[in-house]
Amino acid sequence: MAFEDLYREVILRHFKKPQNFGPVSDEEATVEDENPTCGDHFRLRVELQGDRISSIRFDGRGCAISTSSCSMMTERVLGKTPSEARAMISEFLGMVQGTCDPSDESLGDLAVLRSVRDFPVRVKCAGLCWQALSKALDKLSA
Ligand code: ZN
Repeated sequence: MAFEDLYREVILRHFKKPQNFGPVSDEEATVEDENPTCGDHFRLRVELQGDRISSIRFDGRGCAISTSSCSMMTERVLGKTPSEARAMISEFLGMVQGTCDPSDESLGDLAVLRSVRDFPVRVKCAGLCWQALSKALDKLSA
C-alpha cells in the first residue's frame, strides 16, 4: 500500500471510530487541553493503578489528525508505566517536530503521523493529546 493510502486509512479509521473515547465529565477530567489554532479541544481522564496506567479515556472534539493521534495514543500507553509513557511522549513529539526519527516498530500506527512535520499547524494538532498526557502524568504524580 502506498504511504498516502496507509496514512489516510489509519487516520480515518481512528477518526471515525476513536478508541477509548467516551464521555469525561469536568469532575472526572485529569486534564483539559485545547489547540485554538485549529479548534481541537479534549478532556483526558487518566487513572493509575500501582505503577501502571490502568485506564485512559478522552472526549471532546477535534480534527482528524488530533482525534486519531489521541485515539492511537490511548491504545499505546494503556498498561504502561508513567516513565514508559513519558518516553513515548518525547519520542512522538520529537518525531512530529522533526527532531528525532524513532523506528516504526516503536510507534506502530502512530508512525503515519510522521509526515505532519512538514505542516507546522498540524504539528500542534498531532501533539495536543500527548502534551495533555504529559500534564496529566505530572498531576497524578504530584
Ligand atoms: Zn486540529
